Amino acid sequence: MINKLAEIVGDEWIIVGDEVKLYSYPAFIPLKIDPPIVVLPGSEEEVVELINFLNENNIRYLVRGSGTSLSGATTPTQGEVIISLTRLNRIYSVEDFEITVGPGLANFLINKTLNTNLFYAPDPSSYVVSSIGGNISHDSGGMHTPKYGTTFDSVIKLKVLLPNGKVEEIGGNNFFDATSIFIGAEGTLGIILRATLKLFPKPETSKTLLASFNSIDDAGRAVVNIYKYGVTPSAMEFLDKNSIIAIENTQYKADYPMAEAILLIELDGYSANVEEEEYRTIKAIRECNGEVYIPRSDEEKNKWWWGRKGAFPSFAYYSPAYLTLDANVPRSSLPTMLRFTYDISKKYALPVANSFHAGDGTLHPLIGFDPKNVEETIKAIKAGEEITKLAIKLGGVPSGEHGIGIEKIKFMKLYYSEDDLNVMRRIKMAFDPKRLLNPCKLIPPAKNEICNTVNRIHTYLLEGDI
Ligand SMILES: Cc1cc2nc3c(=O)[nH]c(=O)nc-3n(C[C@H](O)[C@H](O)[C@H](O)COP(=O)(O)OP(=O)(O)OC[C@H]3O[C@@H](n4cnc5c(N)ncnc54)[C@H](O)[C@@H]3O)c2cc1C
Repeated sequence: MINKLAEIVGDEWIIVGDEVKLYSYPAFIPLKIDPPIVVLPGSEEEVVELINFLNENNIRYLVRGSGTSLSGATTPTQGEVIISLTRLNRIYSVEDFEITVGPGLANFLINKTLNTNLFYAPDPSSYVVSSIGGNISHDSGGMHTPKYGTTFDSVIKLKVLLPNGKVEEIGGNNFFDATSIFIGAEGTLGIILRATLKLFPKPETSKTLLASFNSIDDAGRAVVNIYKYGVTPSAMEFLDKNSIIAIENTQYKADYPMAEAILLIELDGYSANVEEEEYRTIKAIRECNGEVYIPRSDEEKNKWWWGRKGAFPSFAYYSPAYLTLDANVPRSSLPTMLRFTYDISKKYALPVANSFHAGDGTLHPLIGFDPKNVEETIKAIKAGEEITKLAIKLGGVPSGEHGIGIEKIKFMKLYYSEDDLNVMRRIKMAFDPKRLLNPCKLIPPAKNEICNTVNRIHTYLLEGDI
């Protein structure tokens, strides 16, 4: 097999031996499994040839973008060959309000390259690294989701390679828009070779506000109150005290006020609108006992936002590794959920911090653990399980933006009925009847489907205490 794969992509684009360990897990740390081989094709034609070969020989495979999935979507749990698409990173065209790019392009390179008054809106905090193919496959959100939507809202057309080797160009119309089935499919239905994305006009102006609160409840109430005043912030980020402490003790230090919680808010649009929205936002915050800060310079503003981008890596202050939960709950349930995360932290004696996109109700409790300690790893997974179960009970969904992967597969059974899951299984079968493409992810296996598990952590992830 190695010789044939090398024939397609060239010897230097094949990885075997110890170096495959670099691909044994994405940003989801509890489970690491070495792939047999990693292939890095350099063109769409090479990807097609690879898939045809793997398909003919019944070899399992998965595609990987930049490997920042927090749900383990690219962990090769079933011995898959990994096809890394990082070399497919071209910008093909910019026309009117559309840009067409290769799937391996890192998100931030779009706005860095665009020399117009347009911008690409979806901005996951991982935007410096994460790829457009990965963003589409996880329907990634970001700080600007409350106003501009998730990646879903910015995809116009896709060129996809189906597991049967056929290339299809889809989308661009308002009826039977087939792009939607590939957005959020986590690389289980086909391979995105090219994407045409929507660009928005840059807002005339934008304004940043920071609000500090002495109680989580007041901060939670302020999130809802701002919307009640008719304001849709372009970003509204929440940091709790544990996150603030972590950020202030790392290279992301932002000189935030020390408080139980802060909200970092951005308003954008026409100057007159932004002024009115600022007035209303300040009123809404003060009604909830918040103190408002306005940045004194661009440098201070940028420091505040950079601190927020560093909230996840700063968690290293507490712990060598962490799980990032991702339930999306009704905004009014945020304080209840946050208090529960602190109870769980005490119960399991594991550190917890919360930094998240409050504007769309996506909660990201980080739970620290030592990945070298199997018992502690399972304990962290259990702690996360309790939090996600409560989120679902309060009307939330198991994943707001990080996807299901292997991390949340068991919650699918809690959220969906067996009939719903069977519909998903039929869709998977229609696209990939041999189940060669990224199997045993996203949809819980049917009774007759075999998914191998490699250790206790893997088994617990799939079954847990559901
Ligand atoms: C520090 C940090 C911060 C983060 N912040 C956010 C955030 O704010 N918002 C958010 O939504 N997520 C966030 N994430 C999660 C992650 O960055 C996103 O899920 C991202 O979209 C993954 O992109 P990737 O290129 O790394 O994909 P990978 O991890 O390589 O792959 C993810 C999935 O996409 C599939 N895939 C990749 N390319 C293709 C393709 N061309 N065709 C078909 N399937 C493909 C893979 O098979 C896999 O199922 C964060 C992660 C980290 C580590």
